[in-house]
Amino acid sequence: MNSVLNNPRSELHALQPLGEGTGDVESLPSYFCRLAVSHSVSTLALSRSIAQRIEHDVSQQFDWHQRRLASTCESAETWSAALSELTAVPNLDKLTFLPWQYVISRSGLSIVTRGQFCPSCFAEDLAQGREPYFRLAWESAEVSVCSRHACSLETHCPHCGKDNIRHTAAYVVPGWCTHCGEFLGKAGEMPATTTIDPAERWAARQIGELVHAQQTLASTPTRDNLINAISQIIEEMDNGQSALFARRIGVAKSTVHNWLKGDGTPTLKASLKIAAHSGASLTQLLSGDLSTWVCPQIEPQLVLNLPQPKPRTRTVKRERNWTEIENQLQAFLVLPTPITVREAAQRLNIDTRLLYLRANMLTRQLGERWKDYLRRRQDEHVVNAWPHLEQACIDIWAEGKSVTLREVIARVPAPILAPLSNLLLNLKDVQSHLMRPDFESEAAK
Ligand SMILES: [Zn+2]
Ligand SMILES: [Zn+2]
Repeated sequence: MNSVLNNPRSELHALQPLGEGTGDVESLPSYFCRLAVSHSVSTLALSRSIAQRIEHDVSQQFDWHQRRLASTCESAETWSAALSELTAVPNLDKLTFLPWQYVISRSGLSIVTRGQFCPSCFAEDLAQGREPYFRLAWESAEVSVCSRHACSLETHCPHCGKDNIRHTAAYVVPGWCTHCGEFLGKAGEMPATTTIDPAERWAARQIGELVHAQQTLASTPTRDNLINAISQIIEEMDNGQSALFARRIGVAKSTVHNWLKGDGTPTLKASLKIAAHSGASLTQLLSGDLSTWVCPQIEPQLVLNLPQPKPRTRTVKRERNWTEIENQLQAFLVLPTPITVREAAQRLNIDTRLLYLRANMLTRQLGERWKDYLRRRQDEHVVNAWPHLEQACIDIWAEGKSVTLREVIARVPAPILAPLSNLLLNLKDVQSHLMRPDFESEAAK
């Protein structure tokens, strides 16, 4: 088997995300902190090396924790893809809210900045022999309680009393105070459930279900399907009168109008309100699947004979066929001339980051093959000269001669050859490349 088909060694440890497949799944900031610990470097050092790699320019004030890595923003996508690339662990975007990026308005997903946590969850992690970690659900500002332990999420260290001590520091070991170093967990001291507002607990459960569901979504939820679902709810609950519906859920009439007729997308808070009033779950609503939803029994209303609005036609978002994409990537891997991941992404009309997230191994193999290729060929002068050298060899052979320096110099312009530091070696490369058995079949296509 060709050596490029092996899984290239990852540059960073291939840590498995904790809580995968559950509502307690780990957040990307947590994963990132554990990765730094596992390499015995500061989060600052790790973040700088990653940022330099993906963002090139990093300011003096660069702070990874300001990047809102668990959100639906550009940084979340870039960083999850970069971490997937470097660790060889695919799908790290599932440690963020990115799967819902089209159904939660970008500015409407509030991410907590000062880091909240459940002390009982940390204590349980330790008791069950795993590393304490931050749950993705804790990143949402709509979550204020732990639905599992029925207690409020904390923001302050119980030992030193400081806040902002969960992860905002150069050195972070999830579960320990970044200020005084004491353990943030505490077991067995469950506060009475009566102190917890049932509405807060309900919201925490909804978001827990949401992050659980996102790990097995068959397709990316679309805004069209969400808007269709909202239209259906307005239709059945308020006879299609969006003003009534707006009043019911406590948002401005113009806001609902903008969702239905404009290009607005509800905030997470607004979607929670819709879910609370309609009885649909947040997950049903955001994934646009009301097939099992039943309109709640409400006070009978005066039936008005209003013209019924036409239901919106559903546009089906193009689903990517990953088997086909993987086949294409396999084909790229045996191209006589390696291509970059960017080039592969362009040919497949797909975002480079998605390739790292969904077809991790093949994409990294492509990247490795290209790097290898560059190393072998030393510099871009060789890249420029390559096609000329290829053509020259083919022409020389066609004339029944053998490839010599003199023959090549007679055919290739001097400005192309001059910068080459080792023309003989380059020529050898070109010839052995042209004589590879797969070249003929590729050229014949
Ligand atoms: Zn908990
Ligand atoms: Zn402390």
